[in-house]
Amino acid sequence: MKNERNKNDRTELLYETDGGLTDFEAVVIESLVSDETKEPCIVLDRTAFFPEGGGQPSDVGSIVLQSGETVRVTDVRTVDGCVCHFIEKKVEAGEKITGHVDAARRLRMMQDHGAEHLVCGLIHNEFGYDNVGFHMSEKEVVVDVSGPLTDEQIRMIEERANAVVYSNVPVTISFPSPEEAASMEYRSKLDVSENVRLVTIEGVDTCACCAPHVSFTGQLGVIKILSFMPHRGGTRMTVVAGLDAYADYVMLHDSNAKIMDVLSSPRDDTGSAVSEQMERYMALKEENTALRKEMAEMVASSVLERIRTMDPGEKSCVIFTASLDQIGLRNVVNRCTAEFDGYVCAFSGDNSGYRYIFAVSPDMEKSADLRGFTKEFNEITGGRGGGSALMTTGQTPAGRDEIQNCVDKLCKKA
Ligand SMILES: [Zn+2]
Repeated sequence: MKNERNKNDRTELLYETDGGLTDFEAVVIESLVSDETKEPCIVLDRTAFFPEGGGQPSDVGSIVLQSGETVRVTDVRTVDGCVCHFIEKKVEAGEKITGHVDAARRLRMMQDHGAEHLVCGLIHNEFGYDNVGFHMSEKEVVVDVSGPLTDEQIRMIEERANAVVYSNVPVTISFPSPEEAASMEYRSKLDVSENVRLVTIEGVDTCACCAPHVSFTGQLGVIKILSFMPHRGGTRMTVVAGLDAYADYVMLHDSNAKIMDVLSSPRDDTGSAVSEQMERYMALKEENTALRKEMAEMVASSVLERIRTMDPGEKSCVIFTASLDQIGLRNVVNRCTAEFDGYVCAFSGDNSGYRYIFAVSPDMEKSADLRGFTKEFNEITGGRGGGSALMTTGQTPAGRDEIQNCVDKLCKKA
C-alpha cells in the first residue's frame, strides 16, 4: 500500500502525511481575489496549512515574503479543488514564501480530533455504534454516536482512551487503492473507496479522515468527556484533550479554590460543603417565610386596631413597615380595605426608598380611581408604578416625611 498520495492537482499537501510540520517553504503559483469577499488569496505549490474540512476548522498563521514582510493567513479553504490561502494583502505569483502555521492552535485541533477518533473507535469496538455527527470548536469537540450510553459506560470508555494515550502507540496515515480499500475494515462517514485516506491508531481504530493528526497517542494528552446526553436515539458527547483539557482543569481548579475559600472546605470535598450550605439556606428561607407571614399578621392587627378608633370622616390610612415583602404588604392592604372606606396607602422600605401599594375598598369603585392619584403621587415623589382603579403598586425613592405630606395633600384633594 502506498503511504504517499499527498498531492492534489496543483499543491503538495504536506499536512496529509506530517501533522507536526508547521514551518515550510513554497512558491506562490497563483494570486487571486475572492469573488465573494474580495479578499486576496494565493495557491501554493506545497502547503502545511490544513483547509477547513470534515468538521475541523482551517489552520491560520502567516507567510513571510522574500522582502522579510510578514502577511497573516486568516483562513484556508478548498475552492474548486484548490487549497486557497486567504491573506491580508495581495501577493504576486512567483513569490517565494516561508509559511508558518499557528502551531499551538494546530496542536489543540489535532489533540481534540485525535481524542474523538480514539473515543469513537473504542465505542465502535465495544458497542458497535457509529459516529453520526462531529463538530470542532476552538476549545472542544462535540461528537454524536448512534446508540445510548450510561454513566458507567462513558467512564469505562474514558479510562480506556487514557490508557491508549499512556501506551503511546503510533498513529499512521495510509492511502489504500480502491481494491485495497474495498477489502479493508475501517470506520467512515461516507461510503467511498476512491482517494481514501486512513488514520490508524495502532491496535484500536482505523478511520477515513482528511485532517492532520499526531504521530503517537501520547501527544494527545489526557482525554476527558466533559458531558454527555441522549440525542436522537444516540448520545451526544463533549470531549477535550491535551491543551484544552489542561485549560479546563485550570478553570475548574480556580473555581474550586473560590468555593474552598468561601466555605473553608477541603479541596476534595467542596461538593458536600456546597450541599450543606444549600440545605441551611433552604431551612432559613422557610423560617424567613414563616416569620414574614407572622409579621404581616401583626402589622395587619395593629392597623385594624387603629382603623377602628379613627374619626368617621378620615379619608386615608397610611401604613409604614420596614421589611414586608410584596405578598405581606398585599395581605395587610386587603385586610384593611375590607374594613375601611378610604385610601389605604401601604409602604415597605426605609428612607433610601419604599415600595408601595395603594388600594380602595371595592365598594368605592364608582367614587374613586387610584390611577390619577398614583400618577400625581409619582410625579411629586419621583416614583413609578400603576395599576387598576382599585389597586396600584410601585416604588418611590422619597423619604417617609415627604411621602406622608404628599399622601395627606392628595387625600385632601380627592
Ligand atoms: Zn477525523
